[in-house]
Amino acid sequence: MSEIPKAYEPGKTEKKLYDFWLKQGYFTPKIDPDKKPFVIIMPPPNVTGELHLGHALTATLEDIMVRWHRMKGEPSLWLPGTDHAGIATQVVIEQQLAKQRQTKKEIGREKFEKLIWEWADKSREDIRCQHQLLGASCDWTREKFTLDEGPSKAVRTAFVCLYNKGLIYRGERMINWCPRCQTALSDLEVVHKDVMGHLYYVLYPLTESEGFVTVATTRPETFLGDTAVAVNPEDERYKNLVGKSVTLPVIDKEIPIIADDVVAASFGTGALKITPAHDSTDFEIAQKHGLPLVNIMNPDATMNENTGPYQGLERFACRDRVLVDLKDRNLLEKIEPYSHSIGHCYRCQTMVEPRVSLQWFVQTQPLAKAAIGAVKDGRIKIIPERFSKIYFDWMENIKDWNISRQLWWGHRIPVWYCQECGKLTVSVDAPLVCTHCGSKQIIQDPDVLDTWFSSALWTHSTLGWPEETDDFRYFYPGSVMGTGYDILFFWVARMIMMGLEDTGEIPFHTVYLNGLIRDENGEKMSKLRGNVINPAEAISKYGVDALRFALTTGTSPGNDINLGTDKLESSRNFANKLWNATRFILQSLNEEVLEAQAIPILLEQPQRIEDQWINSQLNRLIKDVVELMQDFQFGEAEQEIHDFVWSKFCDWYIEIAKIRLRGQLTPSPLSFLVNTLEKSLRLLHPFMPFITEELWQSLKMKLLPPDVTRGRSDTMTMSASIVIAPYPLADERSFAPEAERVLDSVIEIVRSIRNARTQYNVRPTRWIEARVYADELLSGLITQANIMETLAKVRPLTILGRQKREPTNDKALVLVLKEVEVVLPLAGMVDRLAEEQRLAKESDEIKGRIAQIEDRLRDNAFLSKAPSQVIEREKQKLATLEDKLTRLHKELTQLDSPSAGS
Ligand SMILES: [Zn+2]
Ligand SMILES: [Zn+2]
Repeated sequence: MSEIPKAYEPGKTEKKLYDFWLKQGYFTPKIDPDKKPFVIIMPPPNVTGELHLGHALTATLEDIMVRWHRMKGEPSLWLPGTDHAGIATQVVIEQQLAKQRQTKKEIGREKFEKLIWEWADKSREDIRCQHQLLGASCDWTREKFTLDEGPSKAVRTAFVCLYNKGLIYRGERMINWCPRCQTALSDLEVVHKDVMGHLYYVLYPLTESEGFVTVATTRPETFLGDTAVAVNPEDERYKNLVGKSVTLPVIDKEIPIIADDVVAASFGTGALKITPAHDSTDFEIAQKHGLPLVNIMNPDATMNENTGPYQGLERFACRDRVLVDLKDRNLLEKIEPYSHSIGHCYRCQTMVEPRVSLQWFVQTQPLAKAAIGAVKDGRIKIIPERFSKIYFDWMENIKDWNISRQLWWGHRIPVWYCQECGKLTVSVDAPLVCTHCGSKQIIQDPDVLDTWFSSALWTHSTLGWPEETDDFRYFYPGSVMGTGYDILFFWVARMIMMGLEDTGEIPFHTVYLNGLIRDENGEKMSKLRGNVINPAEAISKYGVDALRFALTTGTSPGNDINLGTDKLESSRNFANKLWNATRFILQSLNEEVLEAQAIPILLEQPQRIEDQWINSQLNRLIKDVVELMQDFQFGEAEQEIHDFVWSKFCDWYIEIAKIRLRGQLTPSPLSFLVNTLEKSLRLLHPFMPFITEELWQSLKMKLLPPDVTRGRSDTMTMSASIVIAPYPLADERSFAPEAERVLDSVIEIVRSIRNARTQYNVRPTRWIEARVYADELLSGLITQANIMETLAKVRPLTILGRQKREPTNDKALVLVLKEVEVVLPLAGMVDRLAEEQRLAKESDEIKGRIAQIEDRLRDNAFLSKAPSQVIEREKQKLATLEDKLTRLHKELTQLDSPSAGS
């Protein structure tokens, strides 16, 4: 039988294995009413383009959970899908059109939608491939897209239900408007950035008398939409002006001075200009005082017909003109620098314009109340817990949600307006006539819904809701919702609200929030910084398993992850270490051994201490790992498996086993090698699915070759794939504290002797003498003498009871360890000549450098030209070198008569 290749080449195995898994249908769970399913609905990536590391992280964590539950025998569903991502995708296509000097209006809605569909279909295909590349064990037979018929019907149904309950309404409200996208945005879709701007002090002349009221504003051009000036009623400066009026310059418009206690007398001049159509605070004040709204802008943020001479100017050009005009009239008192926060569109970064507009809203407070309850009473658990507080804060102060978007890409609002009676028909299926008057003259609302509206239904719309499908009955509610903490409000909170509203049940039991990925210095990854790691590139360079391992190991929920090439490299090294260990074990399992041995994978009770030790350590590991996984500490579980495999198994047990195999000593360690390897592979499978399957299959091939019938195959079975093999269970009867105590001591002794050898520059091939003095561990350590001899390169090795310890006359190094003392006679250890030569060589070098500096400091040309700091630095260098030379000489004399030891 051919052996496995010498080096692990991930590229050669990954695709082959994934195809094998797909073909076997492992990722498609069967509905089994006797078993509780494990369900994750994948956060659908946007069809805007390539997956980034954040997607890879979420996908890896979810795959870890799903693979683990699948191995535990639960029907495990991971339902994949993609999001049409309304505004984000539309912006991408608009930018592509712009490159060809076209706009969406020029090509028309139909053609534009066709273009987006082509893009989306291609994107979905890419996203599917990228997930498969990552090893994601999704059920592709159930894949969904937010614009599929099922999820679309769910969207219309949810809208109609909310509307009928009075929880969706249409109204004129202050909204955030993106002038570039020309759509309304919800509050969450606005990114606030601190911008350095100015505070302009503008004089408004009083109408009936001499004098002015000064207002301070960051946006002087909005004076065109002012409908009042407001002051605090307690403000002495303005008491006699309340009820009077000012006249707006340039457009000569009279507006009243009103009093309202929301005005802070301390801000600016204490007089606040009120622009109700373009500021949300002003809007509220205007509502209270019955002030008119004057909209001064077109949808593209140019000035409209209400702005007199400024009509047609772009908003910032208008500001410049306004400032000139005010200056000309001596109405600009002063300008101060001023830093303030300005909202930007989260998709195109354009400065948003607060604007009063007729839009559709969800009244969220009643929905939020139920959603708060579900987390408060523990039906839904948020991991890490600290995010619960953030969740409550937001939910308790939630505002109505603007859900209509003036876009072309998305779910059309299921509302039809009657041209005859003017009433609305709100319906899941497109109506033929107005339900109020029967007129055929009905027109559907041209707007689409916020993309997050369909995302909010994702947990149930993907399973067939509103139909009572088998999938919906069996798989809803889901188990875990895993996603980045950055979309807790955008998405998670809304899923909880809508899940409860639509189905009466929570949509999932656990919210698992992962952190964001930063570079190795903790900086945010961005194209501008040039520190972005592309997942596809990382995969082709290091392999999928290494990428998955680097992304998740040693991390904890909710904390950001620093990732650099170092971590990727060490993850690849780990994969290689595992590969090499398996290769060694497979090579040791030659035909002769297999014929002669009992079934290696079936454990006999370990007789030897080191076998008891590895078995005990393995079972302790399994116990820890399972507990950590149950606690969602996947990064920690992975770290423990890594440490066990790397150190205890590969660095110690396999090295010990090699000594025994070389000496053909009985009992053979082979069954323990095989058992530990096989269980380690299963433990590691959810984290590193490809290499574990490849190695596990090779092991299976060796133990149970399909073409050979041996006695042993009657009593042992291995499943067709590690994917469906059971996750290991700990056997606490294997815990062996005494054996662990002995082996801990063996490892400590070997390590300390190795350190001493390095410290004293003992050649690796040289044998040195060692004496070990112990009490309780004496008999145990004696069984390990052969191992310690080989691993520490000590001979003769004497292991004695402490009472036998005699004062030594010769110079010796004494290592005082946890339970034993190790005595290393120096005479045999240090190659005195070599050490003398090394020290002498080093002191010669130093003498040379000292001479150079002394020459320099005697050179008058140097001394006269060089700055005093340079001379000072040279003198310091000299002092340091002289000190080192003294210490080297001391070492040399000590070699002649060593003083270390007892
Ligand atoms: Zn925008
Ligand atoms: Zn009608």
